Amino acid sequence: MTQLALVIDLNVCVGCHACVTSCKEWNTAGIAGTLPDESPYGKDPTGTFFNRVQTFEVGTFPDTQTVHFPKSCLHCEDPPCVPVCPTGASYKRASDGIVLVDYDKCIGCKYCAWACPYGARELDSQQKVMKKCTLCVDRIYDEALPEAERKPACVMACPTSARIFGDIHDPASDAATAIREQGGYALMPEWGTRPANHYLPRRKTQFRVTPEQLVRADNPLKVDGKRPKPAQDSPSLDDTTSW
Ligand code: SF4
Ligand code: SF4
Ligand code: SF4
Repeated sequence: MTQLALVIDLNVCVGCHACVTSCKEWNTAGIAGTLPDESPYGKDPTGTFFNRVQTFEVGTFPDTQTVHFPKSCLHCEDPPCVPVCPTGASYKRASDGIVLVDYDKCIGCKYCAWACPYGARELDSQQKVMKKCTLCVDRIYDEALPEAERKPACVMACPTSARIFGDIHDPASDAATAIREQGGYALMPEWGTRPANHYLPRRKTQFRVTPEQLVRADNPLKVDGKRPKPAQDSPSLDDTTSW
């Protein structure tokens, strides 16, 4: 059986949140809306996000490292959120393993949110239905999109290629190859949910800087005199109409 999933490389994720904002824009931004759904300019903006990046520090000062940990629904192969749903709104597709919510059937009871050990589900407080990552099911099969763009929005946006999308049951796929060759692991396997999404482990970085390396050879401040100087009477930014 095909099992689509994301494989996230914790070594190269820089915590830029491009995946968060692209996911929000594609899935739950509404019409020309700002990113948070409620009180966007207040002191406590809030909203529904299918994907969040948690950042934390590991180690003991001064030997600490910062880890960025993106998390969305893991499309578990044995998802506890499905059997608890009283209306059958939560389901797992046999064709590709994606776990979805049928918004027409969801009554917003939150049973699935209680059952999910990963905190992956969020109630849309405006539509009163439970939402979560869909693996961008409306993008990946859309034949109106160029083939290269039939990928999740977060995968398209990630500037460091930390997110790999594919069928983890196909040994030849990039996702399965990354898991196999780079020690990909599932989150909290003790729950028996068999998450389809995997993480490539963060390796300890060793970085030594010598005093000489702190001085940039191409430091433009050192070549100030050689920088081209625009003429004083050339147009300035507040006079762009004359450009
Ligand atoms: Fe269900 Fe949570 Fe697993 Fe997603 S991560 S399939 S919401 S149990
Ligand atoms: Fe969001 Fe789509 Fe990425 Fe899921 S696959 S986190 S819905 S952008
Ligand atoms: Fe990490 Fe990529 Fe998401 Fe940026 S876009 S936070 S690098 S996974």
